[in-house]
Amino acid sequence: MLEHQTKSRQIVRIDEELCNGCGVCVSPCAEGAIQIISGKARVLHEELCDGAGFCLGVCPTGALSIEVREAVAFDEYAAEIEMEKWGKPYIEQTCHVCGQGEDSRILLPCRKAGASLWVCTRCLPVLIHG
Ligand code: SF4
Repeated sequence: MLEHQTKSRQIVRIDEELCNGCGVCVSPCAEGAIQIISGKARVLHEELCDGAGFCLGVCPTGALSIEVREAVAFDEYAAEIEMEKWGKPYIEQTCHVCGQGEDSRILLPCRKAGASLWVCTRCLPVLIHG
């Protein structure tokens, strides 16, 4: 069957030893691929993870990374169905510098002093150049 065919592609990798089950990575995953099961983050089904890696920047323990391996191809339709099933609410993330949300600004994940933060593209140059 087509949905079980695999190919070499990017997909999220979760280090179980580093994961503390905090759940911070669940909301940034737009496809609903990551859930907390038995106290650990897990990719429910490979076809729900697009491998974009937006979850990486929010993990406080560095448990998330992207690897290239054989995996079931990303299925956008399946991801939409999963999101509806879980009734996952949209939670707007905000820039830690200006407080503007992702509805009005493009946000990027960043880390500072051990904290996972979001920064908008207007505030990013100030962080880089001071
Ligand atoms: S953010 Fe990191 S530590 Fe927290 S649940 Fe996700 S993978 Fe685990």
